[in-house]
Amino acid sequence: MEPYKIKVVEPLAFTTRAEREAALAGAGYNLFNVPAALITIDLLTDSGTSAMSDRQWSGMMLGDESYAGSRNYFHLEHMVRRITGYRHVIPTHQGRVAENLLFSTVVKPGDRVPNNIHFDTTRANVEHNLGVAVDCVVDDAYDVTSPHPFKGDMDIAKLDRVLAEVGRERLPLVMLTITNNSGGGQPVSLASARAASAWCRRHGIPLFFDACRFAENAWLCKTRDPDCAGMSVEQIARAFFDLGDGCTMSAKKDGLVNIGGFIATNDDALATRLSNMLILIEGFTTYGGLAGRDLEAIAIGLEEVLDERYLEHRVGQVRRFGERLQAAGVPIVLPVGGHAVFLDARRFLPHVPQPHFPAQALTCALYLEAGIRGVEIGGLMFGVPDEATGAWSWPELELVRLAVPRRVYTDAHLDYVVEACARLLARRDTIHGLRIVSRAPVLPHFTARLAPLGGPA
Ligand SMILES: *Cc1c(COP(=O)(O)O)cnc(C)c1O
Repeated sequence: MEPYKIKVVEPLAFTTRAEREAALAGAGYNLFNVPAALITIDLLTDSGTSAMSDRQWSGMMLGDESYAGSRNYFHLEHMVRRITGYRHVIPTHQGRVAENLLFSTVVKPGDRVPNNIHFDTTRANVEHNLGVAVDCVVDDAYDVTSPHPFKGDMDIAKLDRVLAEVGRERLPLVMLTITNNSGGGQPVSLASARAASAWCRRHGIPLFFDACRFAENAWLCKTRDPDCAGMSVEQIARAFFDLGDGCTMSAKKDGLVNIGGFIATNDDALATRLSNMLILIEGFTTYGGLAGRDLEAIAIGLEEVLDERYLEHRVGQVRRFGERLQAAGVPIVLPVGGHAVFLDARRFLPHVPQPHFPAQALTCALYLEAGIRGVEIGGLMFGVPDEATGAWSWPELELVRLAVPRRVYTDAHLDYVVEACARLLARRDTIHGLRIVSRAPVLPHFTARLAPLGGPA
């Protein structure tokens, strides 16, 4: 059961099918353009959507809004140092600003930045600095039926290949995303992090964690890796951080807050350069684009996320959601990761070819059916048209991510989603593909507009 009780409630929004049809057409078949007031169950993201605790809300009242040296900054610094062991703690207002700071400081044109799989903002920030983002995850990550318990693991042979191709000078750092969001929220094993760390140390290349879901990753290690079974989540998380030189973090995930992030590192020279840049684009080093009250909520959230009763329920709720979808015959990525269930649109809609955006079509159908909002992670997000020929290169996976916000929905809400998916599966032949109407060159999925190819979805 939920290891908390509900103190504040917010009514759900209910709509008619006609209202949803009009909203979707007006949104260009892109759920990012649909107002939240027209969404019943919002599984768009687990980012910034957490319910805060009574302790966090009371902490917000203790906000010290001093421009420099706010006491809330020192509380945050203390918590981040306790968890990561990294000395320098640089707050930012989101994870992507931490990425922007890091990559604009260390990436030169033509550099390669390996990761298990880059998250979309991570990839975009590398590319914006004219680097090349390279995914080096184990092949099992792309096999949606493989039961591999750690599909976020790094494939060291792929790191070797990148190094052989461009040489040490073109590798400013290696990233490791825990858990691997874009690959299904799959965890990284401690053994794989150790191997990646040893590889980096051998070649003198810094290792940074993309640590958005470090606590969920640690919990999955504890439950899936016998070597971690006797360790606390905090010990497992620390074992990871000890292997690296720093981390970027969106506190909107395992920070259990609605806004915030940070970058932490042990590298003194790098911290100075990052701090100088921070002052230019975010604010002074003890607030980094956040209010003092936000810093306090993050500091408390980072403590609460290590509560193993919380993590057991959190990760267990997502797993049960996946098990019920599976029992209904809905094709999903297995095993279920930490923060989301991913529908496999290729198997759900085998009659929709990849150039017709099957995962986006399924996302739209789910909204029309029941007012549920998921997000496409497939051809719309990662497909790239060749500028000269117009021919597209397509990603390996066509997924619909149903991300579960932390401490927000009950199992009954998720049952409603399972039932809607089962109804869609029964009439999947009636779901048609989409075509692009307009598309931005960077992070296209946020603003793209599409149109339906066939009859009604
Ligand atoms: C959310 C996320 C980011 C970016 O963080 P924002 O706070 O949304 O800017 C980076 N990496 C991963 C793995 C994420 O999940």
